[in-house]
Amino acid sequence: PGVRALNPYLPGKPVEELAREQGLDASTIVKLASNENPLGAAPSSCEAVAGMMGELARYPDSSLYNLRDSLSRKLAVEPDQITFGNGSNDVLVLLAQCYLKEGCSAVFSEYAFVVYPIAVQAAGAESIVVPSKHWGHDLEAMAQAIRSDTRMVFLANPNNPTGTSFSEAELRIFLEKVPEEVIVVLDEAYFEYAVDSGHPDGILLLKEYPNLVLTRTFSKAYGLAGGRVGYSVSSVEISSVLNRLRQPFNVNNLVEAAAVAVLEDEDYLNRSRQVNQDGMAQIEAGFKSMNIDYIPSTGNFITFNAGMNGVDCYQRLLKLGVIVRPVANYGMPDHLRVSIGLEEENQRFLDALSTVKHS
Ligand code: PMP
Repeated sequence: PGVRALNPYLPGKPVEELAREQGLDASTIVKLASNENPLGAAPSSCEAVAGMMGELARYPDSSLYNLRDSLSRKLAVEPDQITFGNGSNDVLVLLAQCYLKEGCSAVFSEYAFVVYPIAVQAAGAESIVVPSKHWGHDLEAMAQAIRSDTRMVFLANPNNPTGTSFSEAELRIFLEKVPEEVIVVLDEAYFEYAVDSGHPDGILLLKEYPNLVLTRTFSKAYGLAGGRVGYSVSSVEISSVLNRLRQPFNVNNLVEAAAVAVLEDEDYLNRSRQVNQDGMAQIEAGFKSMNIDYIPSTGNFITFNAGMNGVDCYQRLLKLGVIVRPVANYGMPDHLRVSIGLEEENQRFLDALSTVKHS
């Protein structure tokens, strides 16, 4: 019954299909819909993938020794604390499968990432959705919402789609209130973009809070969304539970090589961050000049009030060859989310939005 009642995750349609529907040339379309890295994959990743072609007939290394080794050194954690997934989505679902069942509940915020309710419901558990505060997580209310049957809390920092984040002090106050048998999943998919010095680094809190699990991904700042690799960092005890249910070959050998290469590629990460910072400033300035209300974001996307029905605005932008993401499924019918692109892509978006506004 839990599975039957699911509202499936609705990813955006492929650019080619949208272009065909709109009668547009796909090569002229600007896609700012899925929070992807506008730089494209790092050349270091592409080279690594090319070098692995001879291994396509071989099974991947189930333990992902190479990536585990590089990542554990980079994050200064034990290799056994890491659990890999086919994107961090996979790890989120795995966490729910391992720790939730009928009769349990999980707490998350209104406007939080849409995969949490799906994962909770698929595990047969009940979702407790806590009203948001200023589009962000109301951590105090979330702590109060924890019941005796609650086994998991999902926090997203930065949050998608609102781009809000909370500080280390706020997180610590929250963690102190959570009973130790409740697992706190801190989803840090956009961590690398949150450059503010007050933004918490979940890794530094793991020793103090053994019930904390971080999830991160190579899909965003590391530019490997199509490769599908994400991971959690947790206590060894929790990762040993997750690894019991993890599909043994859930990350392929091509993307493992790509991820190892980009982890060493500081230049790519710095460029990703810089392009994002510049693009965010460009889009915010554009919003201000058009008097558009937006939610300040610490991620690689920004959500704004379309001033009309969000899906209508999305359709009109689409006709002009710009794809953004409606967020009506998050309960935000008047808003749209736009991913930060390259300078000329951001300009195309702002010009198209201005045309829509004035038509
Ligand atoms: N968490 C959040 C908050 C996200 O926005 C996303 C991507 N949309 C993910 C997790 C999952 O990303 P991936 O599976 O590509 O790692």
